[in-house]
Amino acid sequence: MGKKTTIPEHGIPKAELIEEIKNLKEQDVNWHGGNAFGYVYHTEDEHKKFTNEVYSLYASTNALNPMAFPSLKKYEAEVVAMTADMLGGTEETVGSMTSGGTESILLAIKTYRDKAQSGLFKTKSPEMIMPRTAHPAFEKAAHYFGVKSVRISLNEDHTPNMEELKDAINKNTILLVGSACEYPRGMIDPIQEMAEIALDKKIGLHVDSCLGGFMLPWLKKLGYDIPPCDLSVEGVTSISADAHKYGYTAKGSSVLMFKDSSYQKAQYFAFADWPGGTYASPSLGGTRPGGIIAASWAAMRAMGQDGYLKYAKITMETTEKLMKAVTDLPELFICGRPDMTVFSFGAHELNPYIISDAMESRGWVMDKMREPRSLHLIVNPHQAAVTEQFAEDLKSIVEEYKEIGKRGMKKKYPEGSASLYGMIDMAAGSKLVVSKVKDYLADQFNEAMHPEDSDES
Ligand SMILES: *Cc1c(COP(=O)(O)O)cnc(C)c1O
Repeated sequence: MGKKTTIPEHGIPKAELIEEIKNLKEQDVNWHGGNAFGYVYHTEDEHKKFTNEVYSLYASTNALNPMAFPSLKKYEAEVVAMTADMLGGTEETVGSMTSGGTESILLAIKTYRDKAQSGLFKTKSPEMIMPRTAHPAFEKAAHYFGVKSVRISLNEDHTPNMEELKDAINKNTILLVGSACEYPRGMIDPIQEMAEIALDKKIGLHVDSCLGGFMLPWLKKLGYDIPPCDLSVEGVTSISADAHKYGYTAKGSSVLMFKDSSYQKAQYFAFADWPGGTYASPSLGGTRPGGIIAASWAAMRAMGQDGYLKYAKITMETTEKLMKAVTDLPELFICGRPDMTVFSFGAHELNPYIISDAMESRGWVMDKMREPRSLHLIVNPHQAAVTEQFAEDLKSIVEEYKEIGKRGMKKKYPEGSASLYGMIDMAAGSKLVVSKVKDYLADQFNEAMHPEDSDES
């Protein structure tokens, strides 16, 4: 048994705690310098400081009851309206803020399920169809809400096999899911083609624009070749976009929008037989933190269209430079044809996981992916400053390993370095992996709850 952690008997002086927190923070990934490709989205310190300030003004408030906090009601309504406008919405478009992409997706699938169940042609076993690249949150939704998910295989060029998709539709299908863009390759699914199918079959089409929602509209305005993939496409019935990604607000912010209000009752929940009164809630959680609603509203208004355009341009140009660092090396290749500021790359003969570990020893952080083995980069504006260093490090590492390879030596990547996402290299879809990954996650938390006595303490 490890050390027991309790609430300290006597309150600790706040200045001392701030010191402790500052020290602990040092252990975290150094995203600020631009070496980590993911997790944190960042423009400039001054913007972050501003959104944090607004957040703290509302940190204790609760938007659960819109009557109690009319200011939060206004912020949320305007965040949804601004996002809908950005993503091809009309006057009919409605929506809600949620805590993130996953909640938006869970809520969307629950809504489609309940709407289908209230319709004329009820299905007891609803199904949804999506390309294999769709985010695991859809699998979570399938699991939580009893909707079967059917995953479509990919063509050689990483696009979804549309014939397979059409063939998978049956009388139980309630919706299709497309991503703009999908996470693994940064590619936009054929949303227009999917929308035509959805219209023809009279089923829904949810576009997961959690990653691309706050980036693609600006790239399009800048003249990049972005196909229509939002609410402006007839047949798209809902869309999700994360403000806590390229919307550059604090974490805990996403917007789920439906093309019209006919879905709203299926989304909301109400209970009228409670001694505590009548309870109603629009999303999955109960208490709705006001801080992030106010911060999102303020972030979007502080950025403005000119701000989003400016940073989209910087980020895309930075992405192009980083991609060039990869394509300049014949040993490496880009996976598929990325449409925005997200891409992944693999290696022809080397194991990219080894490259990743070597890059990590120089401070770079990239997620490892599978099919094929590859490394993942989500690019941010502040990384404009590190593209040359990245190119230099990547080149020298690839050359070093080529030399090692020539001399017939094999260098294995250390087992322990595989991250949670990094357990990817094991057999696809195996029950064993699923169980192992859950053990790993549980251990991470349980050990932190009861740390082994160490010398420091
Ligand atoms: C991030 C992401 C999600 C999930 O969002 P969370 O905020 O992590 O819950 C869903 N889909 C895509 C494409 C994403 O990039």
